[in-house]
Amino acid sequence: MGTSLPQRPLSALALLTAALALGLTAAPRADDRPAPAGPLPVKERLGEVNKLLDANYPHLEALYKHLHSHPELSLQEVRTAALLAKELREAGYEVTEKVGGTGVVGVLKNGQGPTVLIRTDMDALPVLERTGLPYASTVRARDRGGREVGVMHACGHDMHMTVWTGVARVLAAMKDRWHGTLVFIGQPAEEIGAGARHMLAAGLFKNFPRPDFCLALHCDGNSPHGSIAYTEGLALANVDSVDITVRGKGGHGAAPHTTIDPVVIAARIVLDLQTLVSRETNPTDPAVVTVGSIHGGSKHNVIPNEVKLQLTVRSTKDAVRKHLLDGIKRIANAAAAAAGAPAPEVKVDPEEFTPALLNDPALTRKTVTLFKEALGPDKVTARPPVLGGEDFSRYGREGIPIFLYFLGTIAPERVAEAARTGKPLPSLHSDQFHPVPQPTIQTGVRTMSLAVLNLMGK
Ligand SMILES: [Zn+2]
Ligand SMILES: [Zn+2]
Repeated sequence: MGTSLPQRPLSALALLTAALALGLTAAPRADDRPAPAGPLPVKERLGEVNKLLDANYPHLEALYKHLHSHPELSLQEVRTAALLAKELREAGYEVTEKVGGTGVVGVLKNGQGPTVLIRTDMDALPVLERTGLPYASTVRARDRGGREVGVMHACGHDMHMTVWTGVARVLAAMKDRWHGTLVFIGQPAEEIGAGARHMLAAGLFKNFPRPDFCLALHCDGNSPHGSIAYTEGLALANVDSVDITVRGKGGHGAAPHTTIDPVVIAARIVLDLQTLVSRETNPTDPAVVTVGSIHGGSKHNVIPNEVKLQLTVRSTKDAVRKHLLDGIKRIANAAAAAAGAPAPEVKVDPEEFTPALLNDPALTRKTVTLFKEALGPDKVTARPPVLGGEDFSRYGREGIPIFLYFLGTIAPERVAEAARTGKPLPSLHSDQFHPVPQPTIQTGVRTMSLAVLNLMGK
């Protein structure tokens, strides 16, 4: 993922906001214990979280290894969802299953106060695992196209589920320390950009308490365990998938004048598409048009009837997104018209759209201030946005402040070695990516529990 940026100095307003937040957490408690002032509450809370975390750790590590070795593909998360539902029920949550497919919702009400949603995703990827771990996945399954594939938690969603379970247990055991309503969701199909949409369409914010804040974390394959990284504001991009079918008129490769060659038209389209970013988009607005797949023809001397292209299109602003998608149609149509070919088919699949992720600035600053205090400022790094995508963004598009941060997962010596040798670490989605369970699980549970208590604590 992206490189680190030096931390920006906090504005006076941010400092004031942070001071107010800390002041609020220091409000007198219902019992007679003296309310500690200043930074003490965070340390005190951290102590309580750590105690509960230690007691639950063996269960969590076993759960992590079980989830890792039993991955399920997007929209097939049946056993995973049942396991998460069982975990939440045992922790005292009121659980509803099959929300938007395999989605799980657990609610814990604890008097008046804010409603906070904590999300994990549940799906794995069609990747054959090659980590060599003793708990590596050997699972095979059929993908949406009916092909048999290896299945692996190569994006760390098993770690997200483990941390989420740990946080659910810790907060349920600390009910005297917070007030409000917790909503824990296990979301299907993040990898195909569908799960958040399905859960929202199934009434996530209507049939269950509507959250005031949504929190999530994601594994980071480049930073050391024990650390976290974050981006304030725009963090991840709009992601669209586009399919183009270029139509021509096939014939003999030795008689091109009797054909309309779709290979040549497709080649023009691929090159002309690059001008959408280089010539038509403001250079200060990030954008990507990548043709990831091009298929046509079957033999040297046969001009085919059609060529198929598959594109990924990334942007950070809605206006830029619209310009790119309109421009792709315009360029494809123009190239076909220039060759006297029929109009190509250009399909933008709304099912596969993932909107840009915007971390709410006030929520980000409030939480990051806390993380720096709890972990130490050297363990918390600001980073620039990247053009990856995450459908956690959809909860923010419903008008709710959201914050997704990145959890370091790699042994520090491996990170240092990669920096020294220039040999990159396996990225997320690689068949070699694997988080180190301890202390990654602890840092995840610690930071997320504290982030929730920072919003609901008393
Ligand atoms: Zn992923
Ligand atoms: Zn992921």
